[in-house]
Amino acid sequence: MILDKYKYLLFDLDDTLLDFGKAQVLAFRKLLEDENIEYNDELFEQYETINKFLWRSFERGEISNKEVTSERFIRFFKLFDRKVDGNEVDIRYRGYLAEGNQLFDGIIEMLEKLTSTHKLYVASNGIGITQHTRLKNNNLNKYFEKIFISEEIGSKKPDKEFFDIILKEIDVENKDEVLMIGDTLTSDILGANNVGIDSCLVDIHKTSNPEIVPTYKIAKTIDLLEL
Ligand SMILES: [Mg+2]
Repeated sequence: MILDKYKYLLFDLDDTLLDFGKAQVLAFRKLLEDENIEYNDELFEQYETINKFLWRSFERGEISNKEVTSERFIRFFKLFDRKVDGNEVDIRYRGYLAEGNQLFDGIIEMLEKLTSTHKLYVASNGIGITQHTRLKNNNLNKYFEKIFISEEIGSKKPDKEFFDIILKEIDVENKDEVLMIGDTLTSDILGANNVGIDSCLVDIHKTSNPEIVPTYKIAKTIDLLEL
């Protein structure tokens, strides 16, 4: 079994362990309800375009994560000629995001198995309080030795520094024993490549890029057990 050669497994959170798409739509619906705007899928797509554009700028180091999270709602509500306090709306949105069970099917069973054979970690780009609340609400903390969140460690995927800090913290002697598992080529896989560890792409978005190649590719996270 390929997975046997690794000792440390680093998991991305959003769209790897947690179904971020499902959580986002629910939170977005609640936000529109607050503003008396009727939800439709097209509005969510418009929001997503703005949100993704800003997160890509963040990954390139052009803006901070705080700018992403306040600016996304200012830009979205501008479509309705509404002026909002971007921070206030974002805090409300993140409150909604953190509610409820958002796990993909089979994740708990997978972690139960892996926790007896490997050391597990979370390596996530995101806001500390949001990610901790979501981990707690989904009962995930007990499976992980340590949780690494970009906002808290002061560096982010795909930066080499983010991974250097993690490898140092968990006292890795041999980088060949570390596997990064995540759904995003431009952060999870590129980051693993930057620091020289193996990676496994959870290909739920069906993306590919000839310049960012993962070591392994699986269709969904629980397929890791078949690797
Ligand atoms: Mg992700």
